[in-house]
Amino acid sequence: MLCHHTVPDSRVPGRVLIVGGGVAGMHAALNLAALEVPTLLVEKNAHLGGMVMRLDKVYPTDHCAFCPAWSTARQCYDSPLVQVLLHTEVVGLSTDGEGIRAELKMHRPAVDPTLCLFCGACRNSCSREALLERDPAMTWDPSLPPAMCIDQERCDRCRQCVSACPVGAITLDAGEECVSVAVEDVIYATGFEEVLPGDPRHAPEFGIGSHPDIFTAMEFEAWNNESRGECVLCTRSDGRPAKRIAFIQCAGARDRRHLPYCAAVCCMHAMKQARWLKRRQPELDISLFYTDLRAPGVGQEMYMMAGAAEGVRLLRSRPGLVMAAGSTGVGVRYETPENGRPVGEKFDLVVVNGGLGQCPLPNAFSDKNGRATTHYKCGFCDEPADVAGSVIQGAATAVAVAHRLRATAGGAA
Ligand SMILES: Cc1cc2nc3c(=O)[nH]c(=O)nc-3n(C[C@H](O)[C@H](O)[C@H](O)COP(=O)(O)OP(=O)(O)OC[C@H]3O[C@@H](n4cnc5c(N)ncnc54)[C@H](O)[C@@H]3O)c2cc1C
Repeated sequence: MLCHHTVPDSRVPGRVLIVGGGVAGMHAALNLAALEVPTLLVEKNAHLGGMVMRLDKVYPTDHCAFCPAWSTARQCYDSPLVQVLLHTEVVGLSTDGEGIRAELKMHRPAVDPTLCLFCGACRNSCSREALLERDPAMTWDPSLPPAMCIDQERCDRCRQCVSACPVGAITLDAGEECVSVAVEDVIYATGFEEVLPGDPRHAPEFGIGSHPDIFTAMEFEAWNNESRGECVLCTRSDGRPAKRIAFIQCAGARDRRHLPYCAAVCCMHAMKQARWLKRRQPELDISLFYTDLRAPGVGQEMYMMAGAAEGVRLLRSRPGLVMAAGSTGVGVRYETPENGRPVGEKFDLVVVNGGLGQCPLPNAFSDKNGRATTHYKCGFCDEPADVAGSVIQGAATAVAVAHRLRATAGGAA
């Protein structure tokens, strides 16, 4: 298996660059490999899988999110036609007389987590106790294999650990390296990010960041994750059991002042979270505030109806204000078509859904005269989509790119 921080060859004939290793990027790479097209799959984080690795269950099947994504990642790591680069960001693209060039910024961790056997040989060799189990800043991420990391403040750079490691996973001269590679074509699969305070697309009236019991959707995925082993949902502020929970949809989305579009996945993932709560704690009082429930297709509609039958209260309303209410609790101010006037309710915990922005693409991809050139996009960065949609888009984009490459090669011949 290649080390995922190996500097790639600067030129590989016919190679396609894929920017982003989420489900869309991984499936684009595997489908191109099946068509015998080599790819460079570049991911800025420490692992493949993207956002899916941070989910607990996935709608509509309610199966584990991690297992299929992890096995897809393994196929990428094992494919001789896919070179995976982790901890690497695509920071620029340009064209010159010879074709497309990509600028990559590679961040090298001191211990390569994809090589580390977690055997402890490095820790035993260190007299300063500088070898720790995994980077404490990354413990939230269940997808990372167990790996050692180095506490740089304690390390005296004696290099004993480098000699002790049986697989050469440790590099003390870690840092950043910029490399430039030639590629035949580019697929963007950069996905999405949550829109948080400080971002101009953020809607402040929903209180994100102002109170510990106001959660973003991704924060709540982690808080409600069954791997935490919590049977009772508690508040983040003081750990008391939560009794009343609100999900607020379209918060800042479908709103010309913030995000003008529907993020496509929020109604379903809010209902997924609500139903999993109800299965564990049927007594919970759960309200879902929606503009209109977006659940296309038979399966998704049935999923929504099942949630309502299980006791999730559905309120057609877009609340105008979410804020702290007294010493404990979060207040939600809203009106419904039925009551026609603002009312307030108090909840123990509020999940604010909707602020999903497409990730910015690396530098404008232009030719030497500054004209934008063609490129391919798939997954959430092209169009908000769920996992199934992103996988299909990744595969379809691979076929389109392979077809174009063959047509170009045929034309040249
Ligand atoms: C709270 C929540 C719950 C969800 N639940 C479900 C569910 O139950 N079922 C379902 O079907 N869908 C669900 N979704 C949607 C699902 O997460 C997306 O469909 C899926 O993640 C899209 O995959 P992607 O590959 O397009 O993007 P991502 O998963 O965002 O992956 C993009 C990758 O690109 C990388 N990247 C970005 N820029 C660069 C760069 N310049 N260089 C290198 N790498 C880069 C990122 O680090 C990331 O790893 C949920 C979404 C949310 C927010």
